[in-house]
Amino acid sequence: MSDVTNLLGGQGAGGYGGPPLPVGDGGRRMSGVTNLLGLDRDALEGFFAGIGERPFRATQVMKWLHQQGVAEFQAMSNLAKTLRARLTEIATVVPPVVTADRASRDGTRKWLLGLARGDAVETVFIPEPGRGTLCVSSQVGCALDCSFCATGKQGFGRNLEAAEIIGQVWLAARCLGQVPRGEPLITSRVITHRAITNVVLMGMGEPLLNLDNVVPAMRLMLDDNAYGLSRRRVTLSTAGVVPQIERLRERCPVSLAVSLHAPVDALRDELVPINKRYPIAELLAACRCYAEATDTRITFEYVMLEGVNDDLACARELVKRLRGVPAKVNLIPFNPIPQSPYRRSPPEVIERFREVLLSGGIMSITRRTRGEDIDAACGQLVGKVMARAARHRPAVAAGATL
Ligand code: SAH
Repeated sequence: MSDVTNLLGGQGAGGYGGPPLPVGDGGRRMSGVTNLLGLDRDALEGFFAGIGERPFRATQVMKWLHQQGVAEFQAMSNLAKTLRARLTEIATVVPPVVTADRASRDGTRKWLLGLARGDAVETVFIPEPGRGTLCVSSQVGCALDCSFCATGKQGFGRNLEAAEIIGQVWLAARCLGQVPRGEPLITSRVITHRAITNVVLMGMGEPLLNLDNVVPAMRLMLDDNAYGLSRRRVTLSTAGVVPQIERLRERCPVSLAVSLHAPVDALRDELVPINKRYPIAELLAACRCYAEATDTRITFEYVMLEGVNDDLACARELVKRLRGVPAKVNLIPFNPIPQSPYRRSPPEVIERFREVLLSGGIMSITRRTRGEDIDAACGQLVGKVMARAARHRPAVAAGATL
């Protein structure tokens, strides 16, 4: 492996249901070896230019990797034999390793994925009639420490590599039978069954604090030669890292979701501590710009915590604050996490809150809780943080929940 690039990213051999794979390092370049999994079109074209190959090689390899689910260069039959041999020496395709795979009573599926250096993250698939949403992680742990979120309690481990982010989509597509698992490419073949119709960056971590790796992964989600999703079907969720919202718009304007959770700064400071740095007025101004520039509506997430942020005064204040922002509000019933003082608001309280928003002209839905029996619901993902920074935190939720 001393001279290889991983076109996919991740590490470890086997475990993904296919033939054994070389051991990688989570997607970084290792003394000349490139992980091709995490390279978007431009990067892949650059990689091929570097070895004297024409740009269309990037298209061919992207299709093999992401549409056919093929990780072995030798199986890429429309590449010259000499090129295949060369790729085997200088590149690699290494997905994360599935270390546990659980299915909920409601059909939700959760994978625990092993990464380099003993880290682990979780990825969740949520099937609904007519659509399938994959919830992807962007960091090992999280630094933002929102008071109601299990991931935050672990502390921050590290950023995921682009290959480890897109590797979650790659693996899920294989596990769900979306790609033909390495069958020879038949150009006339149309993959009609699309298990994954939407991707949300709502798993572990704060994606806007790992934008350099999140952007190439999202570009692959959008690329017609990879996963071909429209911008409206890829959603990035942020706790409100305001300056990065503008960067996102410049680099890869997908749908934006914002974890608001409170209409006033004093309360939001408590629930979402990054609010002390970027208060609500600044956040909403950035949202307004983003919505106008991209001609989209911002989704505001609002976790319903009994007696904390769920009274009608909060609802009325929220209506006021969101005036002039193209918005819809997703109310999320709180999902219990260990050692939390919070309780979920009762359904009738959530419904009354929603009615205030609706009568104030704000589109609003209550998100149905999914995968709760396997700890796969919003805010329940923990994976495993091995990085030193996190191990020294007092409240590390050690180990995985799978
Ligand atoms: N860091 C990003 C991405 C995580 S998205 C963000 O904050 O948006 C996960 C969503 O689930 C966020 O809206 C988060 O606030 C919410 N969430 C976290 N913990 C939760 C819990 N225990 N119950 C319900 N929702 C929760």
